[in-house]
Amino acid sequence: MDWLMGKSKTKPNGKKPPAEEKKQYLELEYTKIRVVDFDLKELVVLPREIDLNEWLASNTTTFFNLINLQYSTISEFCTGETCQAMTACNTIYYWYDEKGKKTKCTAPQYVDFVMSLCQKLVTDEEIFPTKYGKEFPNSFESLVKKICRYLFHVLAHLYWAHFKETVALDLQGHLNTLYAHFIVFIREFNLVDPKETCIMDDLSEILCSPAPQPAPTPSAPASTSSPSAQNHVTER
Ligand SMILES: [Zn+2]
Repeated sequence: MDWLMGKSKTKPNGKKPPAEEKKQYLELEYTKIRVVDFDLKELVVLPREIDLNEWLASNTTTFFNLINLQYSTISEFCTGETCQAMTACNTIYYWYDEKGKKTKCTAPQYVDFVMSLCQKLVTDEEIFPTKYGKEFPNSFESLVKKICRYLFHVLAHLYWAHFKETVALDLQGHLNTLYAHFIVFIREFNLVDPKETCIMDDLSEILCSPAPQPAPTPSAPASTSSPSAQNHVTER
């Protein structure tokens, strides 16, 4: 099942998010601001003697909480009127319900769906077991990938539609650090298809340099490939 539909330029009658004319978040004034200044890669590599699934579970849960928190700082500005669709760069994300039915929804609705789903998954003892010796389900990796993919959408929307407000709150350093840490993490474990994250590559390259090896490992499972991602309209 493909969860992403990339489509459409700005609607002629739609309100333009301010960042659309110019990517303010790429300006040096902002990209140089980070809360930490050391190699993020060291934070994400699997520590020796730690089980891979345990590591993925704990990091994914932490990213879910931090991204939820970051979004909450600007959530009052993300309304059905300001953000009629879940946009990021030239992409509109549509929500697909559990039966695979495509739903058009506003950005705050989409984020609410994402956060509710993530909350449900990370607190499910059968999927994210916390008790010692309890096994992870076979579906664990694909669920982690799903969560990371949705969290990426939220981060991309924060930059695309709410960077100005983030700057007004003086939280751009936190956002940049969170974003860079997240991107380095998902790259390290091939958790999100690069076709999905490419819309933000310009920022990722600045914030995550030096970039890790670009090619995903050939052994990476195909999982949820997204052919429609190729339909993205780029205006660059
Ligand atoms: Zn919004």
